[in-house]
Order: sequence, then C-alpha cells, then structure tokens
Amino acid sequence: MATPEKISSAQRVYSFGAGRTDGGAGLRELLGGKGANIAEMARLGIPVPPGFTITTEVCNHFMHHDGAYPDGLRDEVAAGLSFLEQATKKRFGDRDNPLLVSVRSGARVSMPGMMDTVLNLGLNDQTVRGLAARASNPRFAFDSYRRFIQMYADVVMGVHSSRFEEVLTASRRAAGVDADHRLGAEALEALIGEYRVIVRQATGGDFPQDPLEQLWGAVAAVFQSWNSPRAISYREMNGYPSSWGTAVNVQAMVFGNMGDDCATGVAFTRDPSTGEKKFCGDYLINAQGEDVVAGIRTPLPVSDGPDSLAARMPALYRELVDVAGRLEGHYRDVQDIEFTIESGRLWMLQTRGAKRTGRAAMRIAVDMVDEGVIDQRTAVKRVAPEQIDQLLHPTIDAARAPVPIAKGLPASPGAASGKIVFAVDRAVAMARDGAQVVLVRTETSPEDIDGMKVARAILTSTGGMASHAALVARGMGKCCVVGCSDIEVDYAARSMRARGRVFEEGEEITVEGSTGKVYAGVIPTEQATLEETFERFMGWVDGVRRLKVRANADTPEDARAARRFGAEGIGLCRTEHMFFQEDRIDWVRRMILAETRDERLAALEKILPMQRDDFIGVFRAMDGYPVTVRLLDPPLHEFVPGEAAEIAALARRIGADAAILGAKVRSLHEFNPMLGHRGCRLGITFPEIYEMQVRAIMEAAVAVRRDGVDVHPEIMVPLVGLRAELSRLRVMIERVADATLAGAGMKLPYTVGTMIEVPRAALTAGEIAEVSDFFSFGTNDLTQMTFGFSRDDAPKFLRAYVEEGILPCDPFETIDFDGVGRLVRLATEEGRRARPSLKVGICGEHGGDPASVRFMHGVGLDYVSCSPFRVPVARVAAAHAAL
Ligand code: PEP
Ligand code: MG
Repeated sequence: MATPEKISSAQRVYSFGAGRTDGGAGLRELLGGKGANIAEMARLGIPVPPGFTITTEVCNHFMHHDGAYPDGLRDEVAAGLSFLEQATKKRFGDRDNPLLVSVRSGARVSMPGMMDTVLNLGLNDQTVRGLAARASNPRFAFDSYRRFIQMYADVVMGVHSSRFEEVLTASRRAAGVDADHRLGAEALEALIGEYRVIVRQATGGDFPQDPLEQLWGAVAAVFQSWNSPRAISYREMNGYPSSWGTAVNVQAMVFGNMGDDCATGVAFTRDPSTGEKKFCGDYLINAQGEDVVAGIRTPLPVSDGPDSLAARMPALYRELVDVAGRLEGHYRDVQDIEFTIESGRLWMLQTRGAKRTGRAAMRIAVDMVDEGVIDQRTAVKRVAPEQIDQLLHPTIDAARAPVPIAKGLPASPGAASGKIVFAVDRAVAMARDGAQVVLVRTETSPEDIDGMKVARAILTSTGGMASHAALVARGMGKCCVVGCSDIEVDYAARSMRARGRVFEEGEEITVEGSTGKVYAGVIPTEQATLEETFERFMGWVDGVRRLKVRANADTPEDARAARRFGAEGIGLCRTEHMFFQEDRIDWVRRMILAETRDERLAALEKILPMQRDDFIGVFRAMDGYPVTVRLLDPPLHEFVPGEAAEIAALARRIGADAAILGAKVRSLHEFNPMLGHRGCRLGITFPEIYEMQVRAIMEAAVAVRRDGVDVHPEIMVPLVGLRAELSRLRVMIERVADATLAGAGMKLPYTVGTMIEVPRAALTAGEIAEVSDFFSFGTNDLTQMTFGFSRDDAPKFLRAYVEEGILPCDPFETIDFDGVGRLVRLATEEGRRARPSLKVGICGEHGGDPASVRFMHGVGLDYVSCSPFRVPVARVAAAHAAL
C-alpha cells in the first residue's frame, strides 16, 4: 500500500457564489474541472447557484486512510453549509424553508458518467412538505423526493435503481399514464412510501432522515466512485493516474422542474460536430437536467423552431447567449454549458471546453485565429494528431452505431462495409461482379495482395499492428482491423463465428479501422473532405515543427499520394512489394529457385527493367526530395508457393521439373524465418540480387536526372547487426553504383546507409556509423527482437498484458520508451558521435504514432517516416512535440 499522502493545502473547502469566491480556473488540480470552472464563472459575475468544493486532496486522504477524513474537515464543511444558508436564505433541514443541495464529483478532466452524483439532497418526510408549500406545487416536491430516494439509495446505499423502476412502472400503469411527469402528487406520495419499503427490505434500515447524515453519505459515495471499476477502466484507457482523485461539489439546488416558467438544458457556443459558429443545444421546459440527457423525453433545440428556447423565452435566451459568448471569450475556446431556468431566472451550472470532432476542431481553431481570439500556435495545439486522421478517412458516428460484434486492433483507419469473403480468388471474382467485399483471413501473406487490393476493408483474426495485413493496408490507405480474436475463421465452411453468431460468405459487415470495431450489416459512414481550411491549418503546423516527415511508399501511386499529404521524401521504399506483381512474380521465383548462377542472372536481367521503371516513377513523384530505397529484406521462401498443386502449376509455367522444384522449395524452409536467412544476410550470400537492385536504382536516377528531376537516392541495407556486414555490402554498392554512373557519364550524389533494427546494431552504432551515411530505425523488428515478441504472434498475449497492466500499451503501436526507446537514444548519440553528419530517422510503424513521434522529437531524430495517410497526423504530432 502506498504511503499516505500528506495534506499539503491548508484549505480543503472552497466556497463560491453570492459574491464570494475562493477558487478559480487556475485551481483545476485541487478543485477538479467542474469546481474550478464554476468558481471562475462566479468570479466573472455570471449567475451560479452558490456552493462549495471539497478538494481532490481530501479524496486522496480518504483513499489512503480507509475512508477517514482529515482532522477539521467537518468544521470546514459546516462553515461551507452556513455560507450556503446565508447565501440562499434557506436552512438545511428546515421544515418551512429547506435548503436542498446537489453533490457531484469533478475530476481535473471530465470523465463523463464515470462517477456518481446525488441531487435534491436535504429532503425528508418533513422538508418535503415545506418545499411543497414554498413552491405552491406539491407534485414537484414529491417528485423531487422520489427522485432523491431512488438516486441516493442507488448511489449511497447500493440498492439498484431497477427495483424502484419496477414500482414506478406499476404506478404509471395503475394511474393509466405513459410518462412519469404525468403522475399526480398523490400517486407520487404513495410511491415514496413504497420506495421506503424497498430500502428497508434491501438494507435492513430506514432511509436516512437527517440531512447531515445524507450529506456525508453522499460525499463518501462520490469519493468511493473514483475507484469504481468503470472509473478505473476509463482512467486506464486514457492514461490518467489514480493519484489525481476527484473533488466533491456541494451546490444549492435550482429547479428547472417547478413549472412552465422553468427549463433546463445543455448548449454549445459553436457546433461541436461541424465547427460552425452557431449557438446550439437542447433543452426541456419544466424538467430536471437528467431528463434532457436520459432520453425519456425528447429535448427541443435551443435556437431553432417554434418550440425553441429562443421562441418560448426570448429574453432569457438572449441572456443565455450573452453569458455563453462571455464564457467563450474568457476561455478563448468553444464551451459546453449546462443551464437551468428556475421561475424565470437563469442559472449556469457548468462550463467546460467542448469535446468536438476533428472537423470541428480544425474549423474552430482556424476561425478563432481569423477572429483574432487565438494565435496560430494555440490553434495548432487545439487539434489532436488523431483528430486529423478523422479528416482523411470516412468515419462512423459513434452515437448512432450499434453494439459491435467483435473488436480487434485498429490497424488502418477508415470505415467500410461489404460482403465477407475468405479466399483471395473468391474476393477477386466477387469484386469483378461488382460486389463490395471485405476480405476476412486468419492472417494475410504476400500472396493475398490481389484480394487485399479489391477489398474495401481487411479483417484478420490474428496478427499485430506490424503484421503483413496491417502494413499493407496502411500503405494502401485501406481500412483494416487485425488481431481480432473475437472472430473465428473457418475457411472450409466459408464462414466466421463472432460472439456465438455464424456469418456466411456474402453476409455484410462493417469494419472500422480507426477503433478496431466490427459491426454486423452496413453502417452508414461519413465521407471525409479536405478543404482550404485544412491547407491553411497544415501550413501553421509546418511552421512550428522541427522533425521532417517522410512516407513509407513502395509504388509511384503511393509516392504521389504521399506528396499530396505533404511528405518530404520517402523514408522507406520496400522493394520486395514490387516483386509480387503478377507480371514479375514468376521471374522472381525463377531467380530464387535457379539451379545455377547463370540461371539466376538471367532471371535478374528480366526483373531489372521492371524495378527500374518503378524507381523512375517513385523518383519523379519525389522530385526534389530524398528517397530511401531498401534492398531486399524478407526470407526468400515468402516468394514461392507452398502447396504441391501450386508448385506443380509453377513448374509447368516455367518449364521445370516439379519434383526438383518441390525439393528446392522445401530446402528454403526455415524454423524461424524472422530470425533466418533474410535482410543483408541475403545480400551477402546472393550478391547478384543486391547488385541488380543497385543497378536498377542508379539507372532510374540517371534516367530521371536527364529529364531534369532533382533526384536524391539513399540506398539502405536492412537487418545489419555487424559493421562488417555493412562495410562489405557498401563496397559492393559503391562499385555497382559508380560503374552505372560512369557508364552513363554522369555525376550524381547518392548515399548508403542502414536500418537499425537488430539490437546489436543499436549497441554498436558507433562502429556502424563509420561506414553508414544514415540510420533509419526499423522499430518493428527492433521491438520484436528487443522484447523477443514475435510481430505476428504477440497479439495473442499482448492484449492480456495490457489488460493486466504488465505493459502500459502495445509496444508495436507506441514505442517502448524505456527499452526499445533507450536503444534508439543510445544508437543516435553514439552514431552521431562517430559521424556528426549522420542523418537519423525512423521508418517502423511507430513513425505515425503521435506518442512515439513526440519521443523521436525528444531524441533529436531528423525525420519520421510513416504510411502516406498518416503523414498529416505525424506532421501535427511533430508540431505538438515542438510546442
Ligand atoms: C521495421 O522493421 O521496422 C521495418 C520498417 O521493416 P519491416 O517492417 O519491413 O521489417
Ligand atoms: Mg524490418
């Protein structure tokens, strides 16, 4: 158990309202967001019901001392209550003129619905009569008491709400009405009697009649709700520490449900979904706050239409708009406000920065710069990197989505629907017939590319954030969910099972790659559009960032897309992806399966012009920017078929003996291909392959240079762990490159560097930098090899690791700062010490993850490289890191 935290602040209860205010917006950590903002409104002279806030430090004390309060707290609360009594001219527990309060939680950040609230506290069998007489409205008083018993019993005494709902429903039925607000005073009074019986049955005791006992019961319940399972999981999901604690706000009740001159509502100073500068929101006449959000009655729009607040209570509406405008001006940000009108008087209950969509966030930020409210740097801070993603891909409106049938890892954003299909040839055939398909596999391999191309979305039951499906889908900008262990694929039956339900080939599902959710049926999506606002905003982003942002792109199309998204070069061109195209894969196979060096050279001669053409396209798209081309990396068996029938077909196509070919294929088998004959190990044992690739790169560079393209090739060797590997390959690369240039009679600068993706390379980076012009961290492999977690198998246990708190997050998604990150830092420092001009970047999937980008900024890298669609996200993340 942690050592008890010392109470450091002398004051534990902060009062506000009625001309007195102890706190303010600056005390958010102590008073929570709600308490600090109410205090701030009071300071601004905006009408708020008076109240007091018990600080978050008291919460921590309570947690560390088994529910005990610090000495003196009771006196401070008593003083708070007497302030409230003076301010309202009512008395707590008074039979004639009772003070009623709300007791609400309030952490430093909003945690909607995660913690508890009690309203109408102070009512008992006596005070309810005083309230009825004062309000000249017995129905209102009994309804308030009924609600209070239900809420208090649920939150404080642990009697589930459903027990009260049952008798409430019965009472409606008996009265022949369809809604609670149609129950009369007598029915409500009778209901209160029944409620009290429920409490007695459930707890063995009576509902507390002493308002002070009620108050302390509610305060304790709010503190305890900080550690409720749902609050804990919300904190974990958002990375909020438990040490923050919640404050408790005790505030005089104001009533929106005392009659037709009363109302309550929530509103936004600008539209939180589009960003349009327009006051909007919902309200209800003669209702309590919870009615507006609970969905029992349909709320009305505040601004538009004959039933709007603007039409029904025009003077109060104008006052509300005026207050809202002052709050927005004061906070210089869109506000989400709650208000109540009690007998023709406006009260503000809450204000906070509004949660908004990515589209709204950007539009509001840009508009506010134009209005002179904020500067460009503030505008940049107002849009989260992940929100930029929403602008580039179709999205699903979370509020309208049904319960998902499964959830996996959010591998590539966007949302798309289609008919499920489990085999590549079926996917291709169905797509040819005009169907929109979703390719579902246990995992994908390079052979599935054609199916992936025609699919609108990709779903796999295994594999992680750096699995084949994830990488390829991200590169294609295609929506993808991987590692979705909630589904079970049955290839033979052409079906999948998700949470007990079977889905056959052809049934429709919707995949949301931004969240990892999978839905049955077609869920409507909203298309993203890029506007002029986007360009302006991104211009400001680029003005503040230091890190350059490149893209991982393998084809001319990807390279052009990358430029459109603002990539400043290519950080990783994986040449092997070029090998899989239909017109060349058999030549690649001939090359791999060749019996002699001559046969291999002959095949390579066929492949060379195809690779050269690809490089020409990529170089042209990247005119003026560097292009890092990586030499062949994956183990060779990935390129050859495994099934006997496929081997036989290949033998027929290339005129080889099937038995010999089969034996050759088997000889390529490896037990641990990821740790096997791949990367520079291939370049050393089959130098002809790398020689061909270097020639193709340099011939392409020469060709585009002749057309006036400003070309900067960077030749990159994968999987280096030893200085000797790189120095030997470097000699070869320079020999071939220089010979190609000499043959063309051209001088052209190029560089030779390495990936740092084997831990040994990071540990000996100083030596390796002596023979390397640049480093590019391949953090997919570096993470795999540092943890010893297979990239493809880790999702099986990583989910449990994260849920159990063994790891804070998936290390293939966000860089492991302490382990892998430490290697990155060490290698950067030692590499630069050995070669001050060393250029350093990252091309693993972490290059598009905002938290990892921030880390790389801190380490001092020159650039990050990520898939084209992530480029704008990385630009914003880099700007945030610089701010
Ligand atoms: C890496 O390992 O981080 C990398 C970029 O290479 P690949 O994912 O192709 O292994
Ligand atoms: Mg790698």
